[in-house]
Amino acid sequence: MNLALGPYGEGAETLLHGEFGAYPSKGSRYALSLTQMALHIQRLVPKPETDQRTVVPLAEVVGCHTLRSRAPTDRAAYFSVYAYPLKKRKVAVGLGRGRQRAARTFQVDGADDYEKNQAVAEKWAAAIKCLVLGIPVSSETEIAPSLLPRPRRLLLLLNPFGGRGLALQWCQTHVLPMITEADISFNLIQTERPNHARELVKGINLAEWDGIVAISGDGLLYEVLNGLMERHDWEEAIKMPVGILPSGSGNALAGAINCNAGLEQVLGLELLLNCTLLLCHAAVAPLDLVAITMASGARCFSCLSVAWGFVSDVDIESEKYRHMGAARFTLGTLVRLASMHTYRGRLSYLPATDATTHRPISRSITARVGGPPDELLVPLGQPVPGSWMTVEDNFVLVLAIYQSHLGADLFTAPFARFDDGLIHLCFIKAGISRAALIRLFLAMEKGSHFEQECPHLVHVPVRAFRLEPLTRKGILTVDGERVEYGPIQGQVHQGLARLITGVNRLKIASG
Ligand code: ADP
Ligand code: MG
Repeated sequence: MNLALGPYGEGAETLLHGEFGAYPSKGSRYALSLTQMALHIQRLVPKPETDQRTVVPLAEVVGCHTLRSRAPTDRAAYFSVYAYPLKKRKVAVGLGRGRQRAARTFQVDGADDYEKNQAVAEKWAAAIKCLVLGIPVSSETEIAPSLLPRPRRLLLLLNPFGGRGLALQWCQTHVLPMITEADISFNLIQTERPNHARELVKGINLAEWDGIVAISGDGLLYEVLNGLMERHDWEEAIKMPVGILPSGSGNALAGAINCNAGLEQVLGLELLLNCTLLLCHAAVAPLDLVAITMASGARCFSCLSVAWGFVSDVDIESEKYRHMGAARFTLGTLVRLASMHTYRGRLSYLPATDATTHRPISRSITARVGGPPDELLVPLGQPVPGSWMTVEDNFVLVLAIYQSHLGADLFTAPFARFDDGLIHLCFIKAGISRAALIRLFLAMEKGSHFEQECPHLVHVPVRAFRLEPLTRKGILTVDGERVEYGPIQGQVHQGLARLITGVNRLKIASG
């Protein structure tokens, strides 16, 4: 007997087994077995020539519903399994790739009365939903719908002007049907202006929601997180799970979520479908936030990056190519390369060694309103603490990044994790050739730029940093949004927020 497990746990413990008809019927019969990882479907009638099974990985399933026939004489009950497998690449060349809906409906007809058949259908649906949501079940579990939590309620905030303005259309044709199959109930609100989402989130009754999801680029999620942190009850509020369904032009966090799930790096609608599938799987993980302070005294919470020089220049200047979607950054990069600027600045940081993890500074900044105190920082007017390092130099770029991705196809910090408690300080010093800079950015798509061992590229994991621009003019961004130009500092608050990552123990096939 072979006990080795296949990729979908073939040979693993069977939770449920049954023989069912299909709908539409055509006289066929199937043997179904459900394991922790997959639904195995084997046709019995008409008898197949080979022992070919269809395997539906549960990681690609969003939900399962039971149904009843309209014909009163039909004593059968039905259940439908909703899966979104990747289309086979060979078939799809040039036709648009990505996931496609594949629903299968089975007819439970083993008993003479509808109630008994219905109970079996409910049991199968409950088991499949438990596995999709990561609720533990084993062959010992008495499987029943009562194992399931009540359906999730999500507040969906959609920026109709994000990216190429496709958010609403994509939401209606792809997102809403999928999350409905996953039993998610929702309110969909379109933002009417910048800061609308931020104000909304400040005023909502949190008890009414299980999560807040931005259907947009990174900018709207930034508003959601800051809205939560500006509440009087920020300590509770920031535990609200937040999610992102990428439909902007800057989709860094979605890129990181996609990568974290082990999925192939994709863009556009493909990335949106991956993220919607993950959202249906509900799993939540802690997310680091970085408290940023600026010379004016303004404080905000950032979940992606602070950028100065090449990166922020491209981000802001490429706004005029917004209609191109993600391609705007590629074009912006090329334009910018033609006139490579360098910037003089002083960069200070607290290296992330274990000893420095929790050593509060006596003169530290205490938060005036909302949010945790920044115990590692001193006010911007005072010199940095003695335990910090300082580099004064000419830079092509300085980037403080805390997620793996700077854009959906920019795998800038492959080592970054959602809650590693680290700010990955990356900078490129002046003196790099244009060709070397191009090589770095080209390699960044695959995340292999550090392998080039470019002497001008430096990476330091830190807990806190301060950047003092000495060049008079320039652009600073926080999470891709432009902020006041001048001294800026930040410290990480490990795992302060909660992100819907959708990854429990199920691995989604990358095709
Ligand atoms: P993109 O990735 O395309 O930039 P974002 O979702 O990041 O898309 O949004 C960009 C900016 O648009 C954010 O700063 C956000 O505050 C702002 N915004 C949100 N809703 C609206 C709206 N209805 N009209 C104009 N701007 C908006
Ligand atoms: Mg991190």
